[in-house]
Amino acid sequence: MIDEFSVKTTIFSGNEALAILKRYEQHRVAIVTDNFIAHSPLLSQVLHYLGTQVKVFDQVKPDPDIQILQQGTAFFSDFSPEVFIALGGGSALDACKGIRATYALINKGANLPLIAIPTTSGSGSEVTSYAVISDAERNRKYPLVSTDLLADIAILDARLVLSVPKPIAADTGMDVLTHSIEAIVSTNANDFSDALAEKAIKLVATYLPQVYKTPDNLLAREKVHNASCMAGMAFTSSGLGLVHGMAHTLGALFHIPHGKINAMLLPIIIEFNADRNEAIQARYLICAKGMGINTNNPLVGVKELIECIRQLNKSFSMPASLRELGVDLSLLQKDNQATIAAILQDGCTPTNPRAVTAKDIEFLLKRIMG
Ligand code: NAD
Repeated sequence: MIDEFSVKTTIFSGNEALAILKRYEQHRVAIVTDNFIAHSPLLSQVLHYLGTQVKVFDQVKPDPDIQILQQGTAFFSDFSPEVFIALGGGSALDACKGIRATYALINKGANLPLIAIPTTSGSGSEVTSYAVISDAERNRKYPLVSTDLLADIAILDARLVLSVPKPIAADTGMDVLTHSIEAIVSTNANDFSDALAEKAIKLVATYLPQVYKTPDNLLAREKVHNASCMAGMAFTSSGLGLVHGMAHTLGALFHIPHGKINAMLLPIIIEFNADRNEAIQARYLICAKGMGINTNNPLVGVKELIECIRQLNKSFSMPASLRELGVDLSLLQKDNQATIAAILQDGCTPTNPRAVTAKDIEFLLKRIMG
């Protein structure tokens, strides 16, 4: 057996990390971002370090779809970029990964260098080999996975996330927690992914409530930003699990922010996975300890972990069910079998610690519906 843990992306962090961009002053730079960021000081802070040959595609929408990739690729076709910069939340980062890959394909060339600059602390996309792309017509999200999607450079500057409003900070922060917990219990977990995920859990448990309470707290923002990146490195190695398998499908169907649907599903899936399985309970005990729960009893650990996540969700005003969120549940009832099939086929489901059947998914869908 051969295990692999590779680290490709060079991470620059700190309040002068953006200055690294000066290296590209003489290059033709393609920037992919969303409209909000393009009209905020965030884009100007990046442009400050670049030269005059810069073209900005700012049409990324949350949960980018195939059309955005086509649009972005066409936008840069006459520009001949030499480097791509992805600036934004997970949506902009993933869109840029997709546009860069499509650009290389169409121009029959190698992937151009990619610099990822996250402006949310959530997806970890700046260091992951994933890009989550939606099929808007079918209301589906697909996690694409390839080492070709890895960025060459990630720039972590917590000042770029200071403007993230509290509800988005909560959604994205709970995404980090979900990445870390799913990495630890994944069937592909290993010592390297454990180390990163355990640290990420501790940072989120300590600092996410502080970010929510005092959004201007730069230290707390920095810690959650680092946690997001660490969790990304962890799950790119270990894979994820059923929370993500279900979140991709339900998020696409009801257009729920990714972190929010993860947060809602997390306690339900932990309860399901850990049920009467001591080995899985032992893995969740590691997560419980990371959250500051002081017990060596796996059963108690799982129970308290679930309660702790429910309390955290409550403190962030997260709904506990789809009913509470107020989505049109008839969509799910109409599409039930197709939804179950999509969850079973999702790229994140196979590494869930407990094998799942269609019947299990049916049960879990009822639970999340509320
Ligand atoms: P997002 O990128 O969709 O952004 C959410 C909102 O926050 C947007 O309106 C955006 O304009 C705004 N925003 C971004 N930065 C801001 C800032 N600094 N200040 C104020 N507002 C800001 O949300 P996200 O949670 O970062 O990313 C979610 C997407 O990432 C989903 O599509 C999800 O599936 C994907 N994802 C990808 C990976 C991966 O490894 N590639 C992992 C997890 C999630």
